[in-house]
Formats: sequence, structure tokens, C-alpha cells
Amino acid sequence: MSAAAPKVSFVSLGCPKALVDSERIITQLRAQGYELTKRHDGADVVIVNTCGFLDSAKAESLGAIGDAMAENGRVIVTGCMGAEPEVIRERFPGVLSVTGPQQYESVLAAVHQVSPPRHDPFLDLVPPQGIKLTPRHYAYLKISEGCNHRCTFCIIPKLRGDLASRPAAEVLREAERLVKAGVKELLVVSQDTSAYGIDLKYSDSVWRDRAVRARFFDLAKELGQLGAWVRLHYVYPYPHVDEVIPLMAEGIVLPYLDIPFQHASPAVLKAMRRPAHGERTLDRIRTWRTIAPDLAIRSTFIVGFPGEKEEDFELLLDWLKEARLDRVGCFKFEPVAGAPANNFAAPVPEEVKEQRWHRFMAAQREISRKNLARKVGKRLPVIIDEANGPVAKGRSKYDAPEIDGTVHVASRRPLRQGEIVTCRIERSDDYDLFGQAV
Ligand code: SF4
Repeated sequence: MSAAAPKVSFVSLGCPKALVDSERIITQLRAQGYELTKRHDGADVVIVNTCGFLDSAKAESLGAIGDAMAENGRVIVTGCMGAEPEVIRERFPGVLSVTGPQQYESVLAAVHQVSPPRHDPFLDLVPPQGIKLTPRHYAYLKISEGCNHRCTFCIIPKLRGDLASRPAAEVLREAERLVKAGVKELLVVSQDTSAYGIDLKYSDSVWRDRAVRARFFDLAKELGQLGAWVRLHYVYPYPHVDEVIPLMAEGIVLPYLDIPFQHASPAVLKAMRRPAHGERTLDRIRTWRTIAPDLAIRSTFIVGFPGEKEEDFELLLDWLKEARLDRVGCFKFEPVAGAPANNFAAPVPEEVKEQRWHRFMAAQREISRKNLARKVGKRLPVIIDEANGPVAKGRSKYDAPEIDGTVHVASRRPLRQGEIVTCRIERSDDYDLFGQAV
């Protein structure tokens, strides 16, 4: 038997897309015989996968690098903040290597330099589906990287480049492996899911003896055949999104759309340079609901964008009340180093942003409370995220993990994580449901 396996401590920060990168790196490391440890001290090397989206995320990333330097000293930095190596090197000249997002090979090469992989015939003891940092019953499935848009508040295209889609067969093979390994819910992520395949000119790839086009609709339909819940995130309301709504009505993919609308005022959307900002979104939502009446829509918004006037904000509130979205996140505009919007005229004072944020959240709380009250008395399938004897926490089809609401489930028999149970909803509050497993 060779010497003890080299140990790697891993810090994963940022969004689900960064989490997917972390999972890939960890899978490779495990396949090469490295062990993961939760402690920096005693590890042969520490990898910090950073987030560089907002200044607050950068500060968190720098904090994590600082901790790793203090506790260990052998530190490899990767992820979105790696696109600005000078910032990191200036603060921490001793870091071993700095690479940008998705540069798996460079990260592995840097690890090999500090601590070469041991050679062991049992290296392949990695489950074929890879190592997931998310619980076993759900998994993020990244279908593309980068983005062709240039929203003025965002630097993701600068960090991650233009849209680069994975061939449909590759995505489907990964999804199939995940489902075979016990995953019950696939969360489809990318920067712009509905643009999937544009860069590949929607070309075919062979999956189960047939050609599947790299198209949003085709991929969603195929994923829906794998026997797991399929949830679509980061979808923009392009006209072809209409095609997937019947798949939701038929139960092939979940009746759930995560659309980051960001605003409703045409002037603000134009200043943001948002994709599909010219679409008549309220009409579209109405039509979608006639086709799939239980469609849940989640979204995020930014208040206090430079130039946002009181009337723009009121338009947003009216839009929100009309749209009655199910789940909503709201952010106060925050400048991101390198984003064009930082220099726009008429910045909104902090106290106005704060006020608008509170008004927005109060309006949405009321909408959410009413939407959830309509679910009382229904029987809903609930996927169990955490089980603890006769009580459990789960989610309905209308809620994504980590960002949406919870169904609190009471049960006579013990429930298991990942199990999907039918639950009779007995009451609701502003954001959550409460019920009994039947
Ligand atoms: S769509 Fe806009 S906000 Fe989203 S990643 Fe692309 S540029 Fe950024």
C-alpha cells in the first residue's frame, strides 16, 4: 500500500454554476487518489473557488483566501475572481496559482505540483456519477457556460466569455448517470438557458441511437424522459420559451420557470440592456398560465439601478402585482467593478434604494401569502430534503432548493431524504407550506 493519500481542503463560494465547477475539480481529484478534508491545517493544499460577481462576494472570497493562507499557506485560487489575478496577488503574494473559472486542468496541474498524486490501483473508486457537493437527491446540471449578452450591470461575459454550449448528448449522458446514482431532481443551470445551442447552430449529437438537437426545447424534452424532476433555471422570455410550457402541462418537466426579469420599466430594462426586454411579458405570462395553470414563476429584480425614477419603480410594483409571481428575490443595485452601469448618470441614493427594497418586499410578501393560501387543502408531491423522525422539510414542484420556500411535513412513518411523498397541505404562511404526509 502506498503512503497516505494527499489531502485537499476545498472552499466553494458563489453560485450554483461555480458549485458545478467545484464538483468537477473534486471528482477529478478523487479519481486521482486525493482525499478531501474539512480542515485547512493538516491539508497538503487548499483550493478556494471564488466568486467575483458583486463586491461583497469578492470581499468574501478574499476573506476565504486570507483564512486559507493563515491556516495553511499552500493555496490555489480559482473561479470568477481568478479573472482578476492582480487583485489577489497584490493582497496575497504567496498564493501558488490563480486561474479563472472552468480552468480545471490548470487547477489540477497546480495541485500536482504541490502534492503529486499517489499511484494506487484503487484510484478508480470514484462513483461514476462524480462527487457532488449538493445532497444526493438533487444535482445541478450545467448545460452551457458564458453569455452572449452584455447587461450593463454584469461582468460575467468578461469573466466567462461568450456562450459555449455542451452538446446535447453529453448533457444527457451526465444527467442519466446522475439519475442512475439516485438523483431525483435535476436543476438545469447556465447563464442563459433559453439560448442553449445557439453557438452550436443547434447541431445534433447522438443519444440512445437517435440524433438530438442542441435546442432548449429538445433538451428539456429528453431530460424529462429520464425519470427525475427537471427544473429550468435562468430562462429568458424569448419567443421559443413558449414551446416548453406544454411540456410542463404534460408533466414532462416541472411547471417551474426561473426567469430573472430584473425590472419591468422599459426605460430601466433598456439601460440595463436586458435580453428580451421588448417582450410583452405580462401577456406572455397570462398565456403560459392558460396552458399550464399551476406554472410557478420565480424571478429576481434589481431596485435602485442608476436612473431609476419613482415612476419606474411604481411601474415595477404595478407589474409585480399583476404578474403575481410565486417566488421573488430582490437586490439593491450594487456597482460591480468593471461594469458599465457604474458610471451611468443619476445614481439612486442609498436611502431611496433601501426604501424601494422594503416597499418591493412588502408587496411581494402579500402576493406570496395569497398564492400559498390557494394551495391549502391540495395534495402535492413533496421531495424530502431533510428528515428527522416524524417531521421533515421538503419542497413542492414549485420550489427550488436553497432559493425558494419549504414544505414542513408531519408524518406517521419516518421519511427519507430524497423520497417524494404526497402531502396534504393544511396551512400556509408568507413563504412556506405546512402539511401531513398521506
Ligand atoms: S444575461 Fe446579462 S446578467 Fe445574465 S450573464 Fe449575461 S450579461 Fe450577465
